[in-house]
Amino acid sequence: MIIIEKVSEMQQWAEKARKQGYKIALVPTMGFIHKGHRSLMKIGKKHADLLVVSIFVNPTQFGPGEDFEDYPRDFERDRKICEEEEADVVFHPPVDEMYPEGFQTYVEVEEVTKDLCGASRPHFFRGVTTVCTKLFNAVKPHVAIFGEKDYQQLVAVRRMAHDLNFDIEIVSAPTIREEDGLAVSSRNVYLNEVERKAAAVLNRSLNYAKKLVGKGIKDPQQIVEKVREQITTEPLIRIDYVKIKDAEDLRDISTINGPALLAVAAWVGKARLIDNTILTPSQERKQEEARKSHR
Ligand code: AMP
Repeated sequence: MIIIEKVSEMQQWAEKARKQGYKIALVPTMGFIHKGHRSLMKIGKKHADLLVVSIFVNPTQFGPGEDFEDYPRDFERDRKICEEEEADVVFHPPVDEMYPEGFQTYVEVEEVTKDLCGASRPHFFRGVTTVCTKLFNAVKPHVAIFGEKDYQQLVAVRRMAHDLNFDIEIVSAPTIREEDGLAVSSRNVYLNEVERKAAAVLNRSLNYAKKLVGKGIKDPQQIVEKVREQITTEPLIRIDYVKIKDAEDLRDISTINGPALLAVAAWVGKARLIDNTILTPSQERKQEEARKSHR
């Protein structure tokens, strides 16, 4: 495994690999690698001959007062894990390599980034799609893997890749969870023991919503209210949003007929955590029937 810090060197490596007929997979991360990232690496390896993991805490996706400075970093530990996962390259550019003086070009995806996290973090998606464009141009991957945990990000990157004709397959990866259901996240290290326990209510509330849909409730508003009620039973949690959207284009919906995204964001101590699930009425009904027949 090699470590590359310079964009030009990364491009030369990629060009050579492509000329030799190798397929390249990219897993973009902000580091502090966990088992969610590891699962993306495993998927990346299945899709390509060579795996590049990028580790870059991207300043343009953090707003003023957010946790850019405090974001957990441990490159030595990350490097070892990438080696264990048999990555071929870790691309680890310094900030001034990605954003040298005079930088002034951004990529923006319009509609799908407006609501949900886009409403709470106004520059976030502009930063994400800009850095992904730069990573795509540096690493020249055939395929890039993104987690469903950051569902809106996945939709935005897919939209961007399509709209801007990136010749890259965007592959999605399921959310990896802790035993109690909490979605694994680098930001979980911000939680103390009590907050960590409380945070599990987020996933429980998503599962509760699935049950409600299985019982035939189709009104998004009703589900959102029930989910909010459940989360509010935990006094340590402050809800940012609970919303239901069309799973494909993230538009508002008035009835849950096809797959719908139920997304939550909440503050637990100083950590802002997000999680989501897809509500599919036909599947939730089947699950509910299976549960009934086991009773
Ligand atoms: P991050 O380092 O948080 O920017 O995440 C890098 C990539 O890992 C993104 O595509 C995330 O969606 C994905 N990811 C983060 N947490 C998880 C998880 N618990 N399960 C699966 N993928 C994840």
